[in-house]
Amino acid sequence: MHAARINDLLPQTQCTKCGYQGCLPYAQAIAEAQAPINRCPPGGGQGIAALAKLLGVPELPLDTSCGEHMPLQVAVIDEQYCIGCTLCIQACPVDAILGANKFMHTILTEDCTGCELCVAPCPVDCIEIVNVTPAREWTPADALQARARYEKRQTRIAQASTDNIRAEAIARNETDKTGGPETAPGAAISNSADKMAAIASALARARARRAAP
Ligand code: SF4
Ligand code: SF4
Ligand code: SF4
Repeated sequence: MHAARINDLLPQTQCTKCGYQGCLPYAQAIAEAQAPINRCPPGGGQGIAALAKLLGVPELPLDTSCGEHMPLQVAVIDEQYCIGCTLCIQACPVDAILGANKFMHTILTEDCTGCELCVAPCPVDCIEIVNVTPAREWTPADALQARARYEKRQTRIAQASTDNIRAEAIARNETDKTGGPETAPGAAISNSADKMAAIASALARARARRAAP
């Protein structure tokens, strides 16, 4: 069975709860008989039934060591504690978070899949996952939307990486021509050190605020 057909049945949250780096890698593992069909909590029983039908194999109960099936959930940021570090933006596979460095961040609820990937990186624990109200299940239309947003993000990241490599090559070429310093590592280290110091200081402030009566 071709992995693409299996991937078409997966929820596309890219949550990694199956133990793979996204829906397509899990689909590839199933296609190669390296993984069972019951490791996707967002898909739940319906997803397992669809996979079983496609592959002509018996249904299995969800492997709850991967997580429980839940109705649709979304992330919410407690904006009063957000320090604008952007780590959640970097973690979100579907670009459902708006914000800029050192500015408050907010979730685009209609685009959030509830994948939870933004929760762990948040240094001040100000992201919570909540049930949507009224309660509803993740639908195939939601999966299509999430897939489109995920693929758009992947394309953007690949483009940015290509642009960086090109810019570095041009800079190296210019340096070779002028005989200037090979690199300017101090600047990068200093920026990185500044960023770490700013995060550490913001963390201390956030902890102090939380500890206050
Ligand atoms: S939605 Fe399912 S298949 Fe996709 S990454 Fe999450 S657990 Fe894996
Ligand atoms: S905002 Fe958080 S929970 Fe929502 S899709 Fe992005 S990473 Fe997942
Ligand atoms: S990871 Fe947390 S603190 Fe950092 S920008 Fe996101 S919500 Fe704000």
